[in-house]
Amino acid sequence: MVLEFYRHHEILPISPEDKARFIQDYKNNKKADLITAAAFARDNAVSYRNFKVGAAIMSKEPNQASGEYSIYSGHNYKPEPAEQEGIAKRCAEKMALEQALANHTNFIPAIISVSDKISTGSDSQAHDALHPCNECRAMIRQLKKEGLLSGESIICNVNDSRLGRDGNWAEEERTVDELLSLYSGEETSEENQIAAAA
Ligand SMILES: [Zn+2]
Repeated sequence: MVLEFYRHHEILPISPEDKARFIQDYKNNKKADLITAAAFARDNAVSYRNFKVGAAIMSKEPNQASGEYSIYSGHNYKPEPAEQEGIAKRCAEKMALEQALANHTNFIPAIISVSDKISTGSDSQAHDALHPCNECRAMIRQLKKEGLLSGESIICNVNDSRLGRDGNWAEEERTVDELLSLYSGEETSEENQIAAAA
């Protein structure tokens, strides 16, 4: 299992009130910056099948003043199969989250992705906007267990190839708990046992 991998640093306790305030700051004045950062990051994506995704993470770190946050971005990386030997494919969300972890994030109010794709595979999984893949959802579950994400943190998936009913880009914005509830059957029994034992 990869669970230990994410424990880069000690997580300082943050009150539920502060977490709610950080999430409100996303809604009030960080969302547009994050979407822009994710869209720029996508320009660096490498995908042999033109499946390009950008992501941006809003991070609250120790010693940051009130209202101050970091933004980390990432892009997916999946070269031609012939060139993949020894190189792990990476998702945009994972690349961005790893940067937040490496920079001692204390809380993640929001995760944004931008893509013109609507599913990672079969059409049966298609949505208005691309959801995090199963590996990234496992990472999101783990970060929630560690307290770096809350159930109320935001997952916003933007699809800038499609216009929504309001004339803006199609997007799906949910809380972490709302997203995970869509995939509630996929936790492995091993993960459930770990959760039950915790
Ligand atoms: Zn992923």
